[in-house]
Amino acid sequence: MAWRCGGKTNAELIENLFKNNLITSSRVRDAMLNVDRAHYCPDPEYAYEDSPQSIGHAATISAPHMHASAAESLLPYLKPGCRVLDIGSGSGYLTAVLAELVSPQKESSADAGLARVVGLEHIKALRDLGERNMSKSERGREMLKDGKVSFVVGDGRKGWTQGEDGEKGWDAIHVGAAAVELHQELVDQLRSPGRIFIPVEDARGGGQYIWVVDKDANGSVTKKKTYGVRYVPLTDAPK
Ligand code: SAH
Repeated sequence: MAWRCGGKTNAELIENLFKNNLITSSRVRDAMLNVDRAHYCPDPEYAYEDSPQSIGHAATISAPHMHASAAESLLPYLKPGCRVLDIGSGSGYLTAVLAELVSPQKESSADAGLARVVGLEHIKALRDLGERNMSKSERGREMLKDGKVSFVVGDGRKGWTQGEDGEKGWDAIHVGAAAVELHQELVDQLRSPGRIFIPVEDARGGGQYIWVVDKDANGSVTKKKTYGVRYVPLTDAPK
């Protein structure tokens, strides 16, 4: 069914995903309408298809319905002023969509504080790719310039604590590669309340599943195993 959800333009792709219930939130639809997927796909001819695409370094830009699903899962924690960590940012596409989601809806509305979205990669060439792709639009260039979005190099299994703005913790953490375990450092870096969306390998070899990890306002953590997926692994950086 996913093959039907492509389009000739970015708007057509997103509207088709919405019509087919692969995007159900209008906030996520609007955010994805603001990010041209062709800027993030090495082969722009297939940018508006609902399919993943290789971006080199054994990485892929996920299919747009997967990005939509991740954004929808994190949505209650994506508000103006929120701090978001995108681990395994790869093409930078989801980092850009997440940045849209923590931006105020109307140009005129006051900024609810310093929203920050950090794209974290363990391969420098991909860190640079994300930044370069985002720089292709004026909106992306502005978000990079004013510090709303930054791309950094590090091991995503350890999260990211080197904020220059003195703020700590993340309202939402997205992990774009499959972990062998639910890394405690990520749970520790989550704010109360906050949410992690993370694909984790089943310990008994049963494939990968998305886990949604919530920390409530009192700091208590609940973990929920949801649907099966196929992501590239969250690994050591290549030597
Ligand atoms: N969200 C990205 C997904 C890219 S594929 C997109 O849609 O474009 C997964 C990414 O995870 C790859 O870019 C890979 O380099 C990165 N990755 C794998 N292990 C990592 C680690 N330990 N730390 C940070 N990034 C990692």
